[in-house]
Amino acid sequence: MRQTLRLFADINHYKLVIAGGGSGGISAGSIFSRQLGKNQVAIIEPSLVHYYQPLWSLVGAGIKTFEESARSTASVMPKNAVWINDSLAKFDPENNTVITKSGQKISYDYMIVSLGLKLDFDKIKGLKEGLDDPNSNVCSNYSPLTVKKTFQVMKRLKQGNAVFTFPNTSVKCAGAAQKILYLTEDYTRIHGTRSSVNFHYMTPQPTIFMVPHYSKRLDVIIKERGINFHPLHSLVQVDDPHKEAKFTVAAETGKEGAVTYNYEMLHVTPPMSVPDVLKNSPLTDLKVNPIGYMCVDKDYLCSTKYSNIFGIGDCTDAPKSRTAAAIVGQFIFRFLTDNILTGELRVLHKNLNLVMAGKSPIHKASGYSSCPIVISFNKCMLCEFDYDLTPIETFPVDQSIPRRSMMLIKKYILPYHYWNIFLKGYWKGPATIRKILHLGLKS
Ligand SMILES: Cc1cc2nc3c(=O)[nH]c(=O)nc-3n(C[C@H](O)[C@H](O)[C@H](O)COP(=O)(O)OP(=O)(O)OC[C@H]3O[C@@H](n4cnc5c(N)ncnc54)[C@H](O)[C@@H]3O)c2cc1C
Repeated sequence: MRQTLRLFADINHYKLVIAGGGSGGISAGSIFSRQLGKNQVAIIEPSLVHYYQPLWSLVGAGIKTFEESARSTASVMPKNAVWINDSLAKFDPENNTVITKSGQKISYDYMIVSLGLKLDFDKIKGLKEGLDDPNSNVCSNYSPLTVKKTFQVMKRLKQGNAVFTFPNTSVKCAGAAQKILYLTEDYTRIHGTRSSVNFHYMTPQPTIFMVPHYSKRLDVIIKERGINFHPLHSLVQVDDPHKEAKFTVAAETGKEGAVTYNYEMLHVTPPMSVPDVLKNSPLTDLKVNPIGYMCVDKDYLCSTKYSNIFGIGDCTDAPKSRTAAAIVGQFIFRFLTDNILTGELRVLHKNLNLVMAGKSPIHKASGYSSCPIVISFNKCMLCEFDYDLTPIETFPVDQSIPRRSMMLIKKYILPYHYWNIFLKGYWKGPATIRKILHLGLKS
């Protein structure tokens, strides 16, 4: 790995440029830089720290430390790749070029876009002020700057309302908004304060989770645990000096208007959007998707406009649930079925290789995504589903039932997998393991 000497070069050319070095960018960079050789792949990534964001649900509850979720970007950068430690400022796909914030011009033969989503805390009036005040009870697991505060607020919660919100935009890991709800509720049970706290989950969505198979079970869980579920409610303002959260209520509830809740704990999942550099680029089409996601063919993951550009991860308009699992596919083998459910990474790898060989992409993404919904300090529900929200479960058991085994996977196996297999681009799906399990009788 080397950093570019930008002062001495007007333009650098790479066979493959990767825009964004998060979960998708680093794992794709690992695969392609191994294949294409030294200095053929450049990854443009401004952050000096790489985070395993899924761990933040556990960091917010004091189960894991923040430090366990972070490593230096240098340490995860594939050794054959060139790290351009800069922000991308402009896409110029007509000329196969990008320009960075510091003015570097970089050209490419092929490009992968993996810019993730940006957090829009400032779209909720008063939220930033509440989050920034270390003594306030406003918190969010979604940012490295705010996640550590969640556990402090959880420990201070002894009575009153604990309010958890979901925004009116698409988000990364929709389940994370409620994982912290269940963990906090369990925390008050463990510490004997449950009967003094009222729990509220507020969401603009009509149901608690978008996949009916899991939503049905979650409905039972929240009822049993006395959690108040408020569908069709959107957070619009935080008035932290008065500890008030204000919501609009959609007409479908029959109570259209606004409501205000006092809180002793307010956990906010912020609105999210596409980074401006992508939203304002020719890679999107605001008429088709006003949010500005990169327009990709949902099957082949290539840009709908430029055949040498692919997209991966949260920033594309493929209609999947936005998770790291969607990038990498099933993290573990399927025991009993023949169905190979590959993630975006493997599909992209095969299709981009075809394009590099002058052919058309033929491999299709399933839209697989997974969300381990942590239900308590020791149980987790491992949700797995596809583009059609059909459950596609790895294990030969009903995964909508929360289990200790799934919590062990979430706590120990997935973090290990992320740092050692996922980011290194080694996970290519379950085929080999299944073949071994079936004594070579199945492919
Ligand atoms: C609290 C929380 C819990 C989660 N839980 C889970 C879970 O249990 N399971 C799961 O699978 N997923 C989970 N996720 C979601 C998962 O982390 C994301 O879906 C995944 O990281 C998406 O990868 P990505 O590469 O698309 O985006 P990211 O990993 O966010 O990477 C995007 C990268 O682009 C870079 N970038 C942004 N703008 C620019 C620019 N202008 N120029 C260059 N680079 C730029 C950023 O610095 C960043 O490194 C969770 C996320 C959160 C926040």
